[in-house]
Amino acid sequence: MMSLRRLILCTIGSCFFVSQLIAAVEWQVIKINGRDFLTVDNIAKFYGFPNPTIDGRNVDLNNGKNEMQFHIDSREMLINGVRNWLSFPVFVHDGKIVVSRIDLAKTLEPQLRPNMIQKLARVRTVVLDPGHGGFDKGAISGYGYEKDYALDLARLLRPLLQAKGFRVIMTRESDVFVPLELRARIANATSDSIFVSLHFNATDRDPIASGFEIYSLTPRGAPSTYEDGLTLASVNIQNGTEEDAASVELSCCIYHSLLGQIGEFDRGIKRARFAVLRLTKIPAVLIEGGFLTERGESRLIANPGWRQQLADAICAGIDSYRALANSKKPPLVVADYRRQKPGAPAPQKDTLVDPAAPPTLSLNMLYSERPAENSTPLQTPTPSPIGTAPAEP
Ligand SMILES: [Zn+2]
Repeated sequence: MMSLRRLILCTIGSCFFVSQLIAAVEWQVIKINGRDFLTVDNIAKFYGFPNPTIDGRNVDLNNGKNEMQFHIDSREMLINGVRNWLSFPVFVHDGKIVVSRIDLAKTLEPQLRPNMIQKLARVRTVVLDPGHGGFDKGAISGYGYEKDYALDLARLLRPLLQAKGFRVIMTRESDVFVPLELRARIANATSDSIFVSLHFNATDRDPIASGFEIYSLTPRGAPSTYEDGLTLASVNIQNGTEEDAASVELSCCIYHSLLGQIGEFDRGIKRARFAVLRLTKIPAVLIEGGFLTERGESRLIANPGWRQQLADAICAGIDSYRALANSKKPPLVVADYRRQKPGAPAPQKDTLVDPAAPPTLSLNMLYSERPAENSTPLQTPTPSPIGTAPAEP
């Protein structure tokens, strides 16, 4: 039997060991051109990942609970099986792979530890925002208008959400034009709520651009996904928001469900300063449910059965977010959904890099309050992403 003295010594020893461990995973911030970075090794230790596996430009971390893959000199990465777009590229500095602090705080942390998100408010109400309406038709395919598909999708979603006990408010119920500020005001007048804007994508530059993407508000002091660098305008346009982490987590919950249940191309979890994301004061996301300019997807979007699948998947994602917010239940990820639905089509294989796509009419409408002038480039301390210009809807 262990003597009391020995037990005390052991306890002290293990306390010492634990404190050593804690000391070992303290954040070691590296300043590079005025911006804060952390090494991938530091991040791995902090979150309990074994040493990263490096294969060419790919850096893999997997601890059996979470999985991440960084790409050196790129803003593109995979977190738990889906594409994410960082604010700044990951790059090598003094022989160490570094990630910006803003990306760690705003993109990695909420996804690696969703249970730790501060002030994740309970959810009872979903504000559904069918994009466009009235004279604003949005994107157009050979089969129909974005405004009609978005409204139909909201109408399909409403009863699904209500059946799960959500209260549902729609920013429009018919084919009318609703200004963006009014949509945000409707959302902000609700309580215990989240905001989900529904859109379909378009581009006039790349007829084969396809797939899903989802947006939440760009963090303050960071470029949006489609921007190569920081501009004064993009910094000045927006005050900080307390809902950043909740919004990106809502993005993740819906996006993992979408990709896990419908086999479209993964364009990723993105950031933008769309007016409806900027002006809403509750967790807010904007879903782009496929391209009206791509032949195959435009046909799918025109199919009511496919839109029903889309509604089912979005509903499951919202439910997963509520389970996290209300009961701290870890959200399902893409692999969980694929396991639940073994017959679901595999995701489309494509290059890792998004095909670049220019702004569309619908995007311009969303950006209607964005000042185009005074776009003075700010210092961009990191190398620009190599061949990974993130696409726009
Ligand atoms: Zn749109």
